[in-house]
Amino acid sequence: MTTIKLHNTKTRKREVFTPIDDQNVRMYVCGPTVYDRAHLGNARPVIVFDVLNRLLRHVYGEDHVTYVRNFTDVDDKINARAAESGRTIGEITDETTQWFLDDMAAVGALEPDHMPRATAYIPQMVEMIEGLIAKSHAYAAEGHVLFAVESYKKYGALSGRSIDDMIAGARVEVAPYKRNPMDFVLWKPSDVATPGWDSPWGRGRPGWHIECSAMAYELLGAHFDIHGGGNDLMFPHHENEIAQSCCAHPESEFANVWMHNEMLQVEGKKMSKSLGNFFTVRDLLDQGVPGEVIRFVMLSTHYRKPMDWTEKKREEAEKTLEKWYFRLAEAGYSSDMVKMLIAENRWKPAEEVISALRDDLNTHGAITALRKLTSVGTAVSISEFAASLDFLNLVGDWDQLALKAGIGVTSVGDNESNSVIANALLNRQQAKKSKNFQEADRIREMLEDAGVKVIDGAGGTSSFELGSDFEPAKLDALK
Ligand code: AMP
Ligand code: ZN
Repeated sequence: MTTIKLHNTKTRKREVFTPIDDQNVRMYVCGPTVYDRAHLGNARPVIVFDVLNRLLRHVYGEDHVTYVRNFTDVDDKINARAAESGRTIGEITDETTQWFLDDMAAVGALEPDHMPRATAYIPQMVEMIEGLIAKSHAYAAEGHVLFAVESYKKYGALSGRSIDDMIAGARVEVAPYKRNPMDFVLWKPSDVATPGWDSPWGRGRPGWHIECSAMAYELLGAHFDIHGGGNDLMFPHHENEIAQSCCAHPESEFANVWMHNEMLQVEGKKMSKSLGNFFTVRDLLDQGVPGEVIRFVMLSTHYRKPMDWTEKKREEAEKTLEKWYFRLAEAGYSSDMVKMLIAENRWKPAEEVISALRDDLNTHGAITALRKLTSVGTAVSISEFAASLDFLNLVGDWDQLALKAGIGVTSVGDNESNSVIANALLNRQQAKKSKNFQEADRIREMLEDAGVKVIDGAGGTSSFELGSDFEPAKLDALK
């Protein structure tokens, strides 16, 4: 079995990853609170853990990984957004959940196996809270239920702080019903205007942390392999998840490996609305930045390092990808061929790429390996290169490869026609290269018959122009 090494926040070491059950490797990643568009920083954990999901599936098998990422759809920020906009909470969370899914698909992330919404797991949360009270790890007071941090000796171990340090360093809410200022909320009362569920402590709603403990237990069990999220979640969110889950299920250890991505900045500064450098994934997509360019920039920095989004990096990523697409297009990778090779399982990502990823998800190393493969330029290296790009999902749409490679287009038709024409031009280039001029002429004649003017440029490249007599239906003969 191929070894994967991962840096574990819990032990502060890079360790060999050994799944609890290699037939079902289980991962939980904290997802978004749904009240607005995802900002660019939110895409970082999604892309990082998407690559890990792909790597785990590559090593343990497509059907031997369970990946869960939640949606927080009960939260005071959502309530505030509903109050200020006059819309219902359901409308806001439904709409922003779909936005998130669309935007993350655009940056090439596969959907996790389960995407639980917190509000669908309230009974499980209530049950877990009851269990914690029964074991004296939690207490009810004034309609609230609080977790008693002093009841859990290891509280603070993940982030390496003592309770006293935490009190000194954190903005803790001091409240008369708390026994210790660090005690955190498991359940709180709701007034009539706020969403609430009946519970043994009156009508109320859960605190944020309990949702992840309850959903992870329900979908992955008491003990699972990997838990991830941004490092802003390490304290208090993850510390609290550990306390709740380990006290509710003292026989198990919750997650074996904790992984945290560093934060994203923009041009060297924290992304913030007041600095005017705050933007969403959708803003970039709408400006015409392709999803795979965003993904490439994200992957060019290791997840444990702060990542700086800069205009220069975006430009460089765009140029590199264009060069790579040209390489694939030039080697004749039409979409049909790619699909066939993948379907027949004849395509394997390059070992250099996989081994970089096995080393604590060294995506920067994987990109360096890709650069080397293109410079070798043999047929084998190019097919491994293509398979690796597919594995990392850095191509986006294979049907548009030739177009994206800048195999010139001077006037643009609909996407389907464009890709048929571009593939036909590539086939014509290949035919010319192998001195099959009859085939090259045949393709040209068929294109011209459909009203597509073929323009030959320097160095064997060609572009096309759609004439006023263009008839897309006639392209069928070229499919
Ligand atoms: P939130 O909706 O704020 O709870 O965040 C959802 C996910 O995005 C969490 O895993 C956060 O850690 C992560 N995240 C938020 N801001 C950033 C950032 N600037 N850079 C990287 N990750 C972030
Ligand atoms: Zn969480």
